[in-house]
Amino acid sequence: RELVVSFGEMLIDFVPTVAGVSLAEAPAFVKAPGGAPANVAIAVARLGGGAAFVGKLGDDEFGRMLAKILRENGVDAGGVVFDSGARTALAFVTLRADGEREFMFYRNPSADMLLTADELKVDVIKRAAVFHYGSISLIAEPCRTAHLHAMKIAKEAGALLSYDPNLREALWPSLEEARTKILSIWDQADIVKVSEVELEFLTGINSVEDDVAMKLWRPTFKLMLVTLGDQGCKYYTKDFRGTVPSYKVQQVDTTGAGDAFIGSLLRKIVQDPSALQDKTKLEGAIKFANACGAITATKKGAIPSLPKEDEVLRLMEKA
Ligand code: ATP
Repeated sequence: RELVVSFGEMLIDFVPTVAGVSLAEAPAFVKAPGGAPANVAIAVARLGGGAAFVGKLGDDEFGRMLAKILRENGVDAGGVVFDSGARTALAFVTLRADGEREFMFYRNPSADMLLTADELKVDVIKRAAVFHYGSISLIAEPCRTAHLHAMKIAKEAGALLSYDPNLREALWPSLEEARTKILSIWDQADIVKVSEVELEFLTGINSVEDDVAMKLWRPTFKLMLVTLGDQGCKYYTKDFRGTVPSYKVQQVDTTGAGDAFIGSLLRKIVQDPSALQDKTKLEGAIKFANACGAITATKKGAIPSLPKEDEVLRLMEKA
């Protein structure tokens, strides 16, 4: 049982054809399929692992295109349902010259938000060794209830729960609600991954010191990760903790780096769950995940940048 089941949104990002412009200045946009949970599923499959995606798409040309992308990448799309009344979500995204990411979402509501608990493909969820999710699916009903139900099914079937909140401030009615709802399912996870920005958002403290990270630690966690971009990441378990540096690469576009990181780490954990209790094995798995994140940061877009295993091993050997 090595299946990673990823739950949540899959959508199309429209990104400018030229770099460093605002959305208003962009002369044209290209389609870039994404959505963090879908990226994670593809990251796992690209490494040769078993992966399934559970979520809802519009029964439209874009929704069918996205389901095809999952299948073409070796992801089990048996957990995908289609909504005939709502569109596949779209987001216009740009990395401005000042380094800030600017988002404009078209979700009013989009199909992913309309997934109901009744529509969940329970058989897919029950096969999970790891059930992975974010927080965007917690924002609106009925998807929020479907999300909570899916977590319960997975946990009862013996899966490890993996949570990467993937904060998107603009999607929430208020920052306070974002914080409260993101933390409302915090204690249920076995594995949690946050970025530096999310650590600050959730704790209110701008620091990645251990005592700050530990504010997010729960005694029931098996692993907590704080990713630090080109600095690699910090990790915490009940018995040991540490920092694992990343690999030196030429950064082009970090989109999807976090998804590559957690997807590849989950792949390693389902292959050998004893890594969660063994410092040497865990650090080995995190090194591999850092390399996956690093490679993803060297190329434009998320899905096209997710590496295969040989590419990861080459970077690790070279270093
Ligand atoms: P995202 O941009 O997908 O939201 P994130 O903020 O969740 O990403 P990051 O910390 O940017 O996560 O990246 C995840 C991991 O990828 C890092 O912990 C690191 O191992 C690797 N990584 C990202 N960027 C670089 C880089 N420029 N050089 C080396 N490694 C990197």
